[in-house]
Amino acid sequence: MKYISTRGHAANEQFCDILLGGLAPDGGLYLPEHYPKISKEELASMRHLSYAELAFSIFSKFVSDIAPEELAPLVSKTYAPQVFINARPSQWIEDITPLTVLGQEKNTSLSLLGLSNGPTLAFKDMAMQLLGSLFEYVLHKRGQTLNILGATSGDTGSAAEYAMRGKQGVNVFMLTPKGKMSPFQTAQMYSLQDENIFNIAIEGVFDDAQDIVKAVSNDHAYKAEHHIGTVNSINWARVMAQVVYYFKGYFAATKSNDEKVSFTVPSGNFGNVCAGHIARQMGLPIEKLVVATNENNVLDEFFKTGVYRVRSANDTHHTSSPSMDISKASNFERFMFDLMGRDAEKTRQLFKQVEQTGQFDISGTPEFAKIRARYGFVSGSSTHNQRLQAIREVYKDYKQIIDPHTADGVFVAYQYLEAGIPMVVLETAQAAKFEATIEEALGIKPPRPDSSKGIESLPQRVFDLPNSVDAIKQFIHAQTQNHA
Ligand SMILES: *Cc1c(COP(=O)(O)O)cnc(C)c1O
Repeated sequence: MKYISTRGHAANEQFCDILLGGLAPDGGLYLPEHYPKISKEELASMRHLSYAELAFSIFSKFVSDIAPEELAPLVSKTYAPQVFINARPSQWIEDITPLTVLGQEKNTSLSLLGLSNGPTLAFKDMAMQLLGSLFEYVLHKRGQTLNILGATSGDTGSAAEYAMRGKQGVNVFMLTPKGKMSPFQTAQMYSLQDENIFNIAIEGVFDDAQDIVKAVSNDHAYKAEHHIGTVNSINWARVMAQVVYYFKGYFAATKSNDEKVSFTVPSGNFGNVCAGHIARQMGLPIEKLVVATNENNVLDEFFKTGVYRVRSANDTHHTSSPSMDISKASNFERFMFDLMGRDAEKTRQLFKQVEQTGQFDISGTPEFAKIRARYGFVSGSSTHNQRLQAIREVYKDYKQIIDPHTADGVFVAYQYLEAGIPMVVLETAQAAKFEATIEEALGIKPPRPDSSKGIESLPQRVFDLPNSVDAIKQFIHAQTQNHA
């Protein structure tokens, strides 16, 4: 399988070549040159595979430069039940992504696909864990090292740290705004004692941390010399990893491959639902892909009107589903490329318009007219009160405590229930991570899985540094010299 850029660059690269990088040299995003099609027979043969077996059979179609006998053990080690053990005690199942049927509504079933049983209790573990295994493998093979530099206000950074901890050849330098994260999130990250994980607390807010990362990455000489890399949401392997659970969810929600299923996906950067789009293009019988946003409704606006309008920092709301607080959807270009018939020139022009004017408008085009019928996309958004209401209803009707992001999904899913077509809402985090919002909705604290009970009192390993690009550069330099 070869990889191409959404803006036309085609250097005949393979999976391992694009694994460690970010954008393609022309500023586009990488995609496989075609989506492998799954035949009816093959789909039937996949139905009873374990998660790891299913993941291997899907990855094999996208990865032609890792031998199957090397890829298989790497995948089964990644998706082992003991890594994804955080399912709530009441529904403990030896499954990586258990499906919980909530009940029947409008002559169809409404279910949650649990994606948050990994070490950080959020769905980002599903992909990040694979990245950890793949990075270690490729770096070792090439005799290279990598220093991952990032800034986080919570979810992504901790998923990256738990995926990379103890991995050979990889260090993580994660900047966090000092004192600005919840005690739970802080403890989740800072309690890691692994030598290759460096939590750095800087004086300032998240944007200051982000600015430092950008400044270091823009110093190309420093970046090359210190092997600096990132693990952001545009990484192709992260999208690929997420394709698997659409298959798993489909099989769990149906009895035969003649049935169709709709998925509702709490969305921010469009990485998760992009994987659903790819699963559908591969031939998985998906009826609808429902994009659910919070008040940051860039995507809902696009799917309803054909206008894609990115927001300024001032226009980005801080909401109670914070991992979906985005000003633009960084993976969206992948879908636009497909929607434009994989015309790289058209795609390039659209995103050039976004850079210049902050938006594009494809309403009234034949492409936009196809979005629902041909690609299955619909959308909706939710407000704080609607999210709380969804948490209350699911608790009252089904005795489940869902997190605020999943609640955005449930709220929007109700609008798209269709008789005879099971609706699967992707559960993207556990309620335990968002105690304050759950208390506001239900007046009780959500239960925690055993692994995170009392983490706030564990010893913490964190380096306090000033809000300064030079201080961070010097720190990375000193630490990587020591380890060389
Ligand atoms: C990242 C995240 C999302 C949004 O996923 P995208 O791939 O960015 O669309 C939703 N919910 C939670 C809990 C997340 O951490």
